[in-house]
Amino acid sequence: MTSEVPARYCPVCGSWLRVFEPFGSNPRPNALCPVCGCLERHRLVWIFFERKTSFFDGAPKSMLHIAPGKKFEKRFKQIAGLDYLSAGLTGNYMVKMDIIDIQYADNSFDVVYCSHVLEHIPDDRKAMREMHRVLKVGGWAIIMVPIRPEGTFEDPLATDPVVRKRVYGQSDHVRVYGPDIKYRLEEAGFTVMQLRPPDIVDAEGIVRFGLKENEIIFVCQKK
Ligand SMILES: [Zn+2]
Repeated sequence: MTSEVPARYCPVCGSWLRVFEPFGSNPRPNALCPVCGCLERHRLVWIFFERKTSFFDGAPKSMLHIAPGKKFEKRFKQIAGLDYLSAGLTGNYMVKMDIIDIQYADNSFDVVYCSHVLEHIPDDRKAMREMHRVLKVGGWAIIMVPIRPEGTFEDPLATDPVVRKRVYGQSDHVRVYGPDIKYRLEEAGFTVMQLRPPDIVDAEGIVRFGLKENEIIFVCQKK
């Protein structure tokens, strides 16, 4: 009798897999979907949309997706009823946009999705205020950043890429966040709810969907 290996499932592309592939400079096991290229955080957000929101109900919605990966962008463009826009400063997006000076009017979007961007932005508080401004009342911003439990740390004097790599873990990051990013988001006007994988799926689902248990989705509503 062979031991049962739990089958993995990628909710983003709908593929059943034996395992996800390792990924990262210090490779994490069960991270990368070999079919669609998504990582743990992408699968977590997809399941969050599926299980906790009306995102996939086909009703018309507008979404601003800040600096997505190409394959992830393609997947969102296939969603029925979604008026989708990808935007970023450097890279191949549908529109060029600076997150601290967004060119859209107040109350323009139902959803703003901004994942692993704010840790690159020196004036992140301005970026948060801009996302709040362009959201419709009742709309929500889905915010994710790399999180460490100890709390947010930034050193304005750490401008050298080598120093940044040492203190933040990546040479193009300008800070490392803790769960206290919640307070910055609240200062920008949002009502913030934090969801971790166990708030969205059961223990078996965490394994099957290849999720990182310590990841946090900040669901930020404009009231
Ligand atoms: Zn996939």
